Amino acid sequence: MVRNILKLGDETLRKISKPMAKFDLRLWLLLRDMADTMYKADGVGLAAPQVGILRRVVVIDVGDDHGLIELVNPEIIATEGEQAGSEGCLSVPGRRGYVVRPQKVTVRAQDRKGKFFEITGEDLLARALCHEIDHLDGIVYVDKMDHEIFDDEEENREES
Ligand code: ZN
Repeated sequence: MVRNILKLGDETLRKISKPMAKFDLRLWLLLRDMADTMYKADGVGLAAPQVGILRRVVVIDVGDDHGLIELVNPEIIATEGEQAGSEGCLSVPGRRGYVVRPQKVTVRAQDRKGKFFEITGEDLLARALCHEIDHLDGIVYVDKMDHEIFDDEEENREES
């Protein structure tokens, strides 16, 4: 089921999400809805607070071999390097910003059944991991951007 995506200005986007403690049907339905919502909106990632649920749950699909990535209670445990580039957000439609992120990120998270795993992403995946995990702490990319990007200097168009 596609859910409504909250937009910048909604107070929910500024709150700290709580860890997910139960790995049950309620979580699986949330994950399904979040994936549906992300794909419908042509996004590369979505965090639960963006659909009004203050839980530490993220979905990402940057169109690479990883396919759909489901992260429950994700934490960044290592970062490497730096990348500067264009970033957008489904909660901030029609705008993009220039944001510096790590080039490579390793995240420890739980899967839909509560099992711990690690995932390492580079480039766009590293950017998406940082962007979505920021949402769980009430941070939106506009807080971190160096400057707004206007159409004449656009690069990639991914939104998350
Ligand atoms: Zn976002």
